[in-house]
Amino acid sequence: MIRLEKISKTYQTDKVQTLALKDIDLHVRQSEFVCIMGPSGCGKSTLLNLIGLLDRPGQGSIHIGGKPVNSYRDRDVARLRNLTFGFIFQSFHLINDLRVIDNVELPLLYRSGSAAERRALAREALERVGLGARMDHYPNQLSGGQQQRVAIARAIVGRPQVLLADEPTGNLDSKMGEEVMDILLKLNREGTTIVMVTHDEQEARRVNRIVRVFDGQLVA
Ligand code: ADP
Ligand code: ADP
Repeated sequence: MIRLEKISKTYQTDKVQTLALKDIDLHVRQSEFVCIMGPSGCGKSTLLNLIGLLDRPGQGSIHIGGKPVNSYRDRDVARLRNLTFGFIFQSFHLINDLRVIDNVELPLLYRSGSAAERRALAREALERVGLGARMDHYPNQLSGGQQQRVAIARAIVGRPQVLLADEPTGNLDSKMGEEVMDILLKLNREGTTIVMVTHDEQEARRVNRIVRVFDGQLVA
C-alpha cells in the first residue's frame, strides 16, 4: 500500500540545515495498523507528512498503491492524497461555528455529489464513530474524546484507504484516549490501513506493528 525506499529529508531554514530523516525504508501493507514511536524531534511527524504526501522527500522514492509519486506533478499528488488519505491530529481542528454534521461534511464539498448525498455520508461516518446522536451539537458542547471522534468522522467521510494520525490521543486523558483507540481499532478491523504516531506504549501494544525512529533513522 505504502512503500518508502531510501528516503531522506533535510529542512533548510536560513543557514541551518536539519537532516530530519536519513535512509528510511518502510513498507506498510494494506489493512495494517502501524504505530510510529520515538523521542521528540526524531522525525516522526516528518515521516507521517511524507507518507501522507503533504511534503516531498529530498531523496528516495515513494510508491502509494503501486503509483510512483516522485514523478507526479503537484496537482496529481494532491488528487492522490485526497483520494487515499484521511488525517487526524493532536488538536482536533474543528470549526466551532459549524455543527458537528457540517464539520464532517466539509471534505466532501470539493467532490461531486448532491447535498443530500453529502449529508447521508456524513451521518454514516458519525454513526461509525458512535456519534450519530450528536450531529446537531456544536463541537464545544462535546468532550475532548468526542471532538476527536468527530475529527475521525471527518477524516473517514471520503472513504480513504489509509488513516494517518499524529498523536491523536495526545490531548486526551487516558479514558478518552482509550475511546479514541477503540474507534481506530474498529476502523482497522473494518479494513482501513492506519499509521499513527504515538508516545503511549500501552496504545502501541494494541496494534500489529511498531516502527521505532531514533535521530532520523528506523531502529526497530
Ligand atoms: P517529531 O515529530 O519526532 O517530534 P519532527 O519530524 O517534527 O519530529 O522533526 C524532526 C526534526 O526536523 C526536528 O529537529 C525538527 O525541529 C525539524 N523540523 C521539522 N519540521 C521542520 C520544518 N518545517 N522546518 C525546519 N525544521 C523542521
Ligand atoms: P509534534 O507535536 O508532532 O512534534 P509539532 O507541533 O512540533 O508536532 O509540529 C507540527 C507540524 O509542524 C509538523 O508537521 C512539523 O513537520 C511542522 N514543524 C515542526 N517544526 C517546524 C519548524 N521549525 N518550522 C516549520 N514547521 C515545523
